[in-house]
Amino acid sequence: MLEQADVLIVGGGAAGLAAANRLSAEGLDVILLEGRKRLGGRIDTMHDPAWPLPIERGAEFIHGKPPETWRIAEAGGACLYDLINQHWVYARGRLRKRDDFFAQVEKGLAVTEKVGEEDLSFDKAVKRFAGRADKESRRFARAYVEGFDAADARLVSSRWLAMAQAAADKIEGERLFRLNAGYDRIIKVLCTGVSNTGAHIKCASVVRRVRWGGDRVEVEAIHEGERRIYHATAVVLTVPLGVLQLQPGEEGHIAFDPPLPRGKTDGLAMLAMGPVVKVLLRFREPFWENDVSDLDFFHCPGAAFPTWWTTLPLRSSVLTGWAGGPAAAALTGKSEEEILTLAAATLSRVLRVTRSTIDRLLAGAHVADWHAEPLSRGAYSYALAGGSDGARKLAAPVGGALFFAGEATDAAQAGTVAGALASGQRVANEVLRHAAKKRPRSR
Ligand SMILES: Cc1cc2nc3c(=O)[nH]c(=O)nc-3n(C[C@H](O)[C@H](O)[C@H](O)COP(=O)(O)OP(=O)(O)OC[C@H]3O[C@@H](n4cnc5c(N)ncnc54)[C@H](O)[C@@H]3O)c2cc1C
Repeated sequence: MLEQADVLIVGGGAAGLAAANRLSAEGLDVILLEGRKRLGGRIDTMHDPAWPLPIERGAEFIHGKPPETWRIAEAGGACLYDLINQHWVYARGRLRKRDDFFAQVEKGLAVTEKVGEEDLSFDKAVKRFAGRADKESRRFARAYVEGFDAADARLVSSRWLAMAQAAADKIEGERLFRLNAGYDRIIKVLCTGVSNTGAHIKCASVVRRVRWGGDRVEVEAIHEGERRIYHATAVVLTVPLGVLQLQPGEEGHIAFDPPLPRGKTDGLAMLAMGPVVKVLLRFREPFWENDVSDLDFFHCPGAAFPTWWTTLPLRSSVLTGWAGGPAAAALTGKSEEEILTLAAATLSRVLRVTRSTIDRLLAGAHVADWHAEPLSRGAYSYALAGGSDGARKLAAPVGGALFFAGEATDAAQAGTVAGALASGQRVANEVLRHAAKKRPRSR
């Protein structure tokens, strides 16, 4: 079976859908191929009437006020609410509220601004530039880099961390918002746009091969066991970095014929995909409120799940556990049962309740191990030391035929929904510029 379009888009997450919206609104014939049966990619909201709130297996927060996300949320009439964003830290057998949490993190991260031309890993920058007195801020900042950025502190680029911090500062990045109806509201708004403009979306279509080089691109996808061929003048790849980094022979590898040029493979090697394991636990009652009534985010250094949060300011009996970076690498691939046992062990210690109390009160659970998901291969990207230019290299179009988008291509807002949306807009502009150049001029 052969199908034709002006542009093929591979991946139906925020980036792919944003690009499809813009390109089809400009009159191009667009086919979007998505490997999963659902759209949204790493925005993965489940709605279960037994749960008090939408279940966010993937993205959950809007960090600050990125216009890309807010514009869509507002267009979709979404209700957003501010988080309190208060942090508690477990130390010496109990949780203590730390009003200075972010001040300590910022102090610890300040070393990233000192690296200059020679980009160093976070750990090396700390060794070289941090004073001896800053032990606690160093510890907080390292935990933040590993948890929030899902990065390995021994490998992550300090310059990239400083750039990400500077970009966050511009959009009030220290504020956190949730979408009342769930993050998938963003996907629904994008899908409405796509169907209004007539773009074709084909789910359960896993792309295996991209042939390029002449003035046409051929893409091979497997749809329910059947091979399908698509032709177009350009293809936009929005698959996650972890998928693009797969080697021949690894499950899910996309073959490029001819192979991707050196600049692109260099860009791929400068970036890494951070792992995250997230658990969402629904209890019969918010038992922690007996002890601490305003528990919000809480941190348990060294535990299998080092970070947790409640649903405050909305009160519910749901707790979310988060392991990012090396903590997630230690969990990924384990069975759900093993992961839940480790999560329960952390909670029992930190909230000072017995394991049997946790087991008795637990009414429902979800485990999301993003590194183990074949079409994600990790949670989100970060730059390796010396690789702060990786996103730009990954984003660069190749030969007017291959275009790249997705959170990993957005240097300023990598690892976020806003970055993915911005990359979708950027790539659509590139495709349109290229199409305009190719169009014969009228007299
Ligand atoms: C646990 C977790 C928590 C997060 N929390 C936040 C948060 O709070 N706030 C925030 O802003 N961001 C958060 N993020 C990051 C955010 O979700 C991503 O940056 C963003 O959704 C990425 O969008 P994308 O379009 O670039 O990629 P994706 O959403 O991954 O879309 C790519 C699509 O490509 C598809 N695909 C892959 N391979 C193929 C193939 N061979 N053929 C066809 N299709 C294929 C995938 O199925 C996927 O749908 C979180 C991510 C995770 C995993």
